[in-house]
Amino acid sequence: MAGVVVLVTALSAGNLRARAAPGEPAPPVPAPESGRDQYALSARLLPEQRLVLGSATIRWQNRSRRPVDELWLHLYANAFKDARSVFVREHGGSLRGTSLTRPGGIEIVQMRSSHADNPLARARTDVVAGDATQMKVALDRALPPGDWLSLELEFRLQLPSIMARMGAERDFFMLGQWFPKLAKLEQGGHFASFPYHGLAEFYADFADYDLSLEVPADFVVAAPGDMVDDSPAAGGFRKQRYRLANAIDIAWAASRGLARTHARAGAIGIEVFAPVGQQPLAREQAELLQDGIRKLGSRLGPYPYSRLVLVLPPERARGAAGMEYPGLIVGWPVSWHTALNPIARAMHRVVTLHELAHQWFAMLVASDEVNTPVLDEGLAQWVGLSLAAEIYDRALFQRLFGVPIDLFEGSRVGLPAALPSSLQPAHTYRPAELGPALYVRPALALETIARCWGRPRLWATLAGYARAHRFGHPGLSDLWAAFDRGYWPGFSARVLRPALEGAAFSTRLENAGAGRDAQSALLASRSSAVAAVLPLHVEQIASSGARQLVAWASGSDRLVLLPPSALRGASIDPERRNLLDDDRSDDQSRARDAPPPPHALLARLLLWAQALLMALGP
Ligand SMILES: [Zn+2]
Repeated sequence: MAGVVVLVTALSAGNLRARAAPGEPAPPVPAPESGRDQYALSARLLPEQRLVLGSATIRWQNRSRRPVDELWLHLYANAFKDARSVFVREHGGSLRGTSLTRPGGIEIVQMRSSHADNPLARARTDVVAGDATQMKVALDRALPPGDWLSLELEFRLQLPSIMARMGAERDFFMLGQWFPKLAKLEQGGHFASFPYHGLAEFYADFADYDLSLEVPADFVVAAPGDMVDDSPAAGGFRKQRYRLANAIDIAWAASRGLARTHARAGAIGIEVFAPVGQQPLAREQAELLQDGIRKLGSRLGPYPYSRLVLVLPPERARGAAGMEYPGLIVGWPVSWHTALNPIARAMHRVVTLHELAHQWFAMLVASDEVNTPVLDEGLAQWVGLSLAAEIYDRALFQRLFGVPIDLFEGSRVGLPAALPSSLQPAHTYRPAELGPALYVRPALALETIARCWGRPRLWATLAGYARAHRFGHPGLSDLWAAFDRGYWPGFSARVLRPALEGAAFSTRLENAGAGRDAQSALLASRSSAVAAVLPLHVEQIASSGARQLVAWASGSDRLVLLPPSALRGASIDPERRNLLDDDRSDDQSRARDAPPPPHALLARLLLWAQALLMALGP
């Protein structure tokens, strides 16, 4: 996308050198052409020491209504410093099955600013006792609304064992959340700063990134944006420089053991970096991204960057797996048997499509991942599984086992009955609740809406939300408004919100008047007025074997069927529209002599196998 290149303004450190003497007003810092914050980052990777020597030159605007007299920076890498960090205290030093075996951390060694004389001397990281993932920097000269400041930092990043998407494992290096980054300033003048908890944790403004890397010459670099330089450097190093405009973050990976596979989706370059020898898998993943990026681009608004990079980490770097950054996603880890294992390949597809969906939610529609993680994880889970379902059309499992399996049904199995609302901040869930509450239930809620009111309408509604808040920072009220527009006024309050909060959408079949009257009718009933909103069908199978599908309209809480004596069986919601009923065993009624449905046991087993797969999900 040529526009992206044009919009980038290269930051030269030289124009930020002006500094006021103590007590004097701050020198004016010019606004960049794009009007966005500017991060010029440089990093030299010293693999033997697992060290990155970095610098950041930041030009930043006060976009709030009040003067700013302090800055808040995220120092995420300090989550891995010692046992006192909030991250280690909350997760016990392990996340998604990966444990922290070697600590790491980030140290700011120099800091200069147009608005502070010796900022490092007044910087504090002890905002939360024991945790050093935030830094508060007092300014000597307040920055009025609309004005710009400069901030220059030099830092040493000691990479931990790969954990929560950052670190080093032998010669594989994952640099996510790796540089000092300003917290997002809200309109009211406060910084949305928070300690690093570990999952669904980021929230940032859009900025233009200029990334200069120096790595040993035999390393392969996976980085997003436009590569503007690739040249040899002294001491057996090579230099690469990337520009990524209008993005909320920038991350990169480097390794000796990665090979690059290239493809295109129109003007967008797709690059898959996978362990050497995994080219068939890399090719398959590149084709998946080609298809996915076209579909999501046409539905949710164009993908905004010139390249999309996918990193498939080696198995030993599992801690880097399943993560999204603007223009760069990390898929599922690869082991020697991945190519031979159809379940592992399905897992790769599901994870890659989930991470691709994140390019829209929340990389482009940049909601607050900390406080409203459902807006990124919930939406990405539905979008990813929907794309996977479109591509598989249930055929993969049909071919494998002769039984059609539904990815959404698969993720339904094992959903705990008592689950907190899906609208809470990520760090308020217990570990076992997080996946079901933030990924599974929202995906099931959205899929139920798709099956009840049509898939195109849900895509159009999500597109309305994504396009209205592209490069913006929407909240839950914006999602509710989008669904009220896409369906009808009050839809969110009546359907989406209760579904996400965990309302029971249960149905059951009962024999009204059983035991007293042989001619009594079979009755389909709903658990609550909330459940009555779903338009469903009930199937009756007459004694003759004739099947009849009866509409059970939205708003009616009961449906009277034929008397049991006239039926071979009946089934509520045979099309499986309602995925929010936690007990389907009371939705079927079958005469004693009727044959059981085929494949019932195998289907159940496969559902459990699928549920296991989902439990490992991104
Ligand atoms: Zn995710």
